[in-house]
Amino acid sequence: MMTEKVSILLYDDEKAKAVRRFNDGRSPKYLIRTYGCQMNEHDSEGLAGMLEEMGYSPAENVQGTSLVLFNTCCVREHAELKAYSNVGALKKLKEENPGLIICVCGCMMQQEGAAEKLMKRFPFVDIAFGTHNSHLFPGMLYRLLLKGERVCDMAAPAQDIIENAPARRAGPPCAWVTIMYGCDNFCSYCVVPYVRGRERSRQPEDIIAEINRLVGEGYKEVTLLGQNVNSYGKDITGADFPALLRRINDETGICRIRFMTSHPKDLSDGLISAMRDCKRVCRQIHLPVQSGSSAVLARMNRHYTREDYLALVEKLRSAMPDIGLSTDIIVGFPGETEKDFEDTMDMVQKIRFDSAYTFIYSKRSGTAAENMEGQVPAGVKKERIRRLIEAQAAITYEKNLGCAGKAYEVLAEAVSRRGVSMLCGRNGAGMITNFAAPPELIGEFIEVKIIGANRYTLLGEII
Ligand code: SAH
Ligand code: SF4
Repeated sequence: MMTEKVSILLYDDEKAKAVRRFNDGRSPKYLIRTYGCQMNEHDSEGLAGMLEEMGYSPAENVQGTSLVLFNTCCVREHAELKAYSNVGALKKLKEENPGLIICVCGCMMQQEGAAEKLMKRFPFVDIAFGTHNSHLFPGMLYRLLLKGERVCDMAAPAQDIIENAPARRAGPPCAWVTIMYGCDNFCSYCVVPYVRGRERSRQPEDIIAEINRLVGEGYKEVTLLGQNVNSYGKDITGADFPALLRRINDETGICRIRFMTSHPKDLSDGLISAMRDCKRVCRQIHLPVQSGSSAVLARMNRHYTREDYLALVEKLRSAMPDIGLSTDIIVGFPGETEKDFEDTMDMVQKIRFDSAYTFIYSKRSGTAAENMEGQVPAGVKKERIRRLIEAQAAITYEKNLGCAGKAYEVLAEAVSRRGVSMLCGRNGAGMITNFAAPPELIGEFIEVKIIGANRYTLLGEII
């Protein structure tokens, strides 16, 4: 696929202005609830930006809200069921406040027939749309408010990039920046390629301009987002991910650069040297292994073996001994035997990841694994994930304790959940650190010495 085939879509500015005029003097409030990954979180920032352009302002809670938007996820069944039950729970609210606008969007809606089904089951939902046409949200709201139409809109092909849409980001100091959309990998368990479409990369110039704008607004750190950032630029002549990292490092004023997610099959020597050479690129990588068994990996369509993954980690750690390494692991993939699972446990012990997101395999309709033989019973899956979580938690804790006495540069990101007199931030390797400091220091880089640790975070003090 070449860039010419990708059309650059423009945000529906005219309709946004019309809705703004409609809302003038009403000061309506909106609430967005996001399910799933960082990509969805960032999409919600875009939707919030559109709503604010249309005269809405953020609500503190659901009471007194004029518009509720659910941005859904369908990677696992659990997220889907939760979204359904939370949409169902809005019925009462709508009865109390018939003017309440209820919208549902995101990956779950992009599945074949899902939006129609939702609108039928929940007649109080006003607007449903997918992942490919969110830039048209102002037009849908316009139709609802000014023409009184319920809207279920999945239009727009999957091969688009939207460049000029507004966003209301959570920061400063940290921001997400999408560098590519979609996924071409078709891991056999995964629904993402079906709901996010084919891979398409943003132009390096657009990414660099966005990051420089963020720098101007006071942002210090960006996380570059893509389902597989290592395939960035395959559709653009002369661009690839290591080159993009080098350009962002050299041509923007951003202090820290992180990225996710990296697929092990595409992680090149070029990326390792770009990470090593670029001062602003954090030494942190999220590298989902999914399983420690080569047989399971083959059935997952991951295109690497256990040995390939171990060699890759070796290469990364010898180039950057201080690199932070996190992963995703699925247990109970169809056909996973006790021996396969023990291979995963062994991999976890051998590699000693800093952290791991662990998932019970969830059967997804339309994926290759859906009809595979050897579906693992729920009880076995639960038992396996319990063992895995326990093993990884012990490793994370030991590693955290091992940081005692070390000094790190931490970007103060926000007030810590541990209390108002504490801030939290991450060191270069991505370890979350809490430390006593006043809120005025949010956005500053601070030298912190580690004085303690708990299971998932470090405790530091300002040096
Ligand atoms: N593109 C990223 C993220 C994909 S979704 C990547 O390739 O890593 C995030 C994680 O959800 C995946 O890494 C995988 O571990 C998990 N996941 C995806 N589909 C799943 C399924 N059907 N059941 C259980 N976990 C799943
Ligand atoms: Fe899903 Fe695999 Fe694509 Fe990640 S790389 S989004 S797991 S298909």
